[in-house]
Amino acid sequence: MNCELISVGTEILLGDIVNTNAQFLSRELAQLGINVLFQCTVGDNRERLLSVLKEALERNDILLLTGGLGPTPDDMTKEVCAEFFGKELILHEPSLKKIEDFFAVKNITMPESNKKQALIPEDAIILENKNGTAPGCIMEKDGKAIIILPGPPKEMVPMFLDAVKPYLKKLSYETIVSHNIRTFGIGESAMTELASDLLESSNPTVAPYAKNGEALLRITAKSENEQAAEALLTPVVKEIEKRLGSYIYGIDVASVEEATVKLLKDKNLTVAFAESCTGGLCAKRVTDVPGASSVFHCGVVSYSNEIKNSVLGVSKLNLDRYGAVSDIVAAEMALGVKKLSEATFGVAITGMAGPTSDDPEIPVGTIYIAVTDGEILYLKKLQTGHNSKTCRDYNRIVSASNALNELRLCALSYPEKRSEGTDINEFIKKYQGDFR
Ligand code: ATP
Repeated sequence: MNCELISVGTEILLGDIVNTNAQFLSRELAQLGINVLFQCTVGDNRERLLSVLKEALERNDILLLTGGLGPTPDDMTKEVCAEFFGKELILHEPSLKKIEDFFAVKNITMPESNKKQALIPEDAIILENKNGTAPGCIMEKDGKAIIILPGPPKEMVPMFLDAVKPYLKKLSYETIVSHNIRTFGIGESAMTELASDLLESSNPTVAPYAKNGEALLRITAKSENEQAAEALLTPVVKEIEKRLGSYIYGIDVASVEEATVKLLKDKNLTVAFAESCTGGLCAKRVTDVPGASSVFHCGVVSYSNEIKNSVLGVSKLNLDRYGAVSDIVAAEMALGVKKLSEATFGVAITGMAGPTSDDPEIPVGTIYIAVTDGEILYLKKLQTGHNSKTCRDYNRIVSASNALNELRLCALSYPEKRSEGTDINEFIKKYQGDFR
């Protein structure tokens, strides 16, 4: 079964909004085993929308439209679809009542134009909008269907999940199930090499992706039901786990921070961050995860050398001698925040995010990450290799991701493998008499 997504809205064509609806719907339809072979965006224009509908219906069983259900004259999706199927628009009283109530609750007089949102093509299945005023609808003709949903994602997503998904499930004979195996610390090509033979399989398929310094493998199986699809997936997932080991930070988890928070929670460990170039990004990402309060103590954004010294206790001597972007300063920041917070781990990041470097000896993209439990130190020097004008965001995201992953690796083998770290006091002492 083929479905084409048609996003209606001139603001999408102008680049004013990102088409997140298409991304969401494509994923959902893939899970239902429905092929999306084409996606299209069309402006708020009757002739062009009619021509898109005609072309799209010739090559698909279902058209799924979002946007253009508002009260203004340029919102015309329902009107044009009704015209295309030769249907009348009929006032749907319960929808009108809902719209009137919506305004009454707010003590606002309903503009006459809102009435048109309650007009529905005759014989259509009406999709209630629990989060807005415009109902959606499904029109059927000659074994084909046009599904119309509102544009705002907060209205479209629940309407799709509550009403459209069950409707489509009944039409689809196949189920597609995917698992995302997320890795960190191994590049996409190295990961692909380790799994190269598996990439040739056709059911399940194994596909590599890379983004912001992370690589993932998506394994997808098609079968008559979910259980049968899972049976195809299990041995392949196991084989990949065997090959990629601790590079894998999670399967079907949203992010490295989510995996790290879960691990810390499971092992009853806690963390505090001292961040310089990432400006609090690690703290932000960890606290994005619900339930982070049980593992996160605090974050210090120590941008200036004065704060590195006065709040975290980084020695002035080391700041002067080695500069803020150095392994010793990272180590002292981590120790400082560990002591300040009494968390299990202090994690520090200091680096040159760019786009320019204020030290000719330190290229943009040089980042130091330190993790300590107060006694043992784990250090990582990162060279992101990104020094273009637009590198700043990338360098900060990748630095924070690396710090979170270092924390994850420490927590993973904690406390059994503590001996693999360096003695932090010895490390700091070494610098006192060792001016490079
Ligand atoms: P409204 O009643 O709010 O006018 P509508 O169904 O007519 O809703 P549009 O007017 O097309 O929808 O879009 C309203 C808003 O919904 C847009 O400004 C945008 O914020 C969001 N939106 C619309 N289409 C998309 C899309 N494809 N992806 C993400 N957001 C979208």
